[in-house]
Amino acid sequence: MDLLEYQGKQLFGKHGLEVSDGKAVTTVEDAVAAANEIGYPVVVKAQVLMGGRGKAGGVKLASNEDEAREHATNILGLDIKGHITRTLWIEHASDIETEYYASVLLDRSAKKPLVMFSTEGGIEIETVAEETPEKLIKQHVDPLVGLSKEQALDIATQGNADEDVREGVADALVALYTVWIEEDASLAEINPLIVTPDRQVKALDAKVSLDDNASFRHPDHAELGDKANLDPIEVKAAEQDVVYVKLDGNIGILGNGAGLVMSTLDVVAQAGGEPANFLDAGGGSDAAKVTQAVEIILSNENVKAVLFNIFGGITRCDEVANGLIAAFKSLKPTVPFVVRLDGTNDVEGRRILEEANLPNVQAAKTMNEAAEMVVAAAKGNS
Ligand code: GDP
Ligand code: MN
Repeated sequence: MDLLEYQGKQLFGKHGLEVSDGKAVTTVEDAVAAANEIGYPVVVKAQVLMGGRGKAGGVKLASNEDEAREHATNILGLDIKGHITRTLWIEHASDIETEYYASVLLDRSAKKPLVMFSTEGGIEIETVAEETPEKLIKQHVDPLVGLSKEQALDIATQGNADEDVREGVADALVALYTVWIEEDASLAEINPLIVTPDRQVKALDAKVSLDDNASFRHPDHAELGDKANLDPIEVKAAEQDVVYVKLDGNIGILGNGAGLVMSTLDVVAQAGGEPANFLDAGGGSDAAKVTQAVEIILSNENVKAVLFNIFGGITRCDEVANGLIAAFKSLKPTVPFVVRLDGTNDVEGRRILEEANLPNVQAAKTMNEAAEMVVAAAKGNS
């Protein structure tokens, strides 16, 4: 789960990183009230899960009430690369002397946390990595030891941080590492990590991704994330415990088992189609579950055809076939379906489907055949 900047900053503050106090608001009036309370100059910042907000006009300084109102009005509703701004973060503006970069992430190939630091902050770190890689310091951390102050100081020194703030940078790195470990984050990034004219080191931005597999350890994280911009279909799916991810294409996909669903997406793409979703129906698919899943798939209006790819193991193909018949009775879908049933009770499953003679349902024997059929069906229905 990706966090909005202000949520990331709250976690930073909790673990001792220096951040500005501020207020999250959703209306112009509340923004102005918050700005008046905080005291000018303030910075008005769009809270969307997308970088480059500054360039897109989503970060503005205001030195009085009129400017705060103007910026809040312009930024609320602003579309930043497809993300609509519904929340603003107002904080007291900081004076910036220098902009650094710092992050902690998991280096999967090394199986270790990786700390990155650069004095080239405020710009995209990918650019620094590409054009001046010697200015991006990377050090692995022994996860059993953690990031010691000594190692953090070494990183600040290697990275050429101004000598008088190396101590402060090291403290910030240790705090950032603590956020990463204690909050079970997969990424904790500060860009820019600023040095103020009075030589304070402070996080001006926050990009934090949490590891959802650890959410059971953090009941307080349930409040976080970009609730206002969630996809309504994904919300509905999550409520019904259906593993669903919306994609950009027009072919609805249902399979049983995450691995099978992922390979289904691949074969559909290879056959020239574009999947509209990932949906793992899991093991054992009774009528109610299949109906629910079909309803979720079809609530995406882009869907022009649907592929059921079932490899029966624990899931019995006859049960899925009966589930599909029940789903057709209650939902009466109008888009074509291609159904591939293989494995446990597949012969029985196909017989049940054939007898039911559902409108617009074709049976396929292999996954490749099914993919080609559904791509053709989607084209015919567009
Ligand atoms: P991003 O563009 O989405 O990465 O958003 P940031 O939070 O990093 O802000 C973009 C830029 O706005 C920063 O790099 C700063 O240059 C500027 N900025 C943000 N907050 C302040 C502030 O408090 N004071 C000043 N002077 N500039 C700021
Ligand atoms: Mn930034």
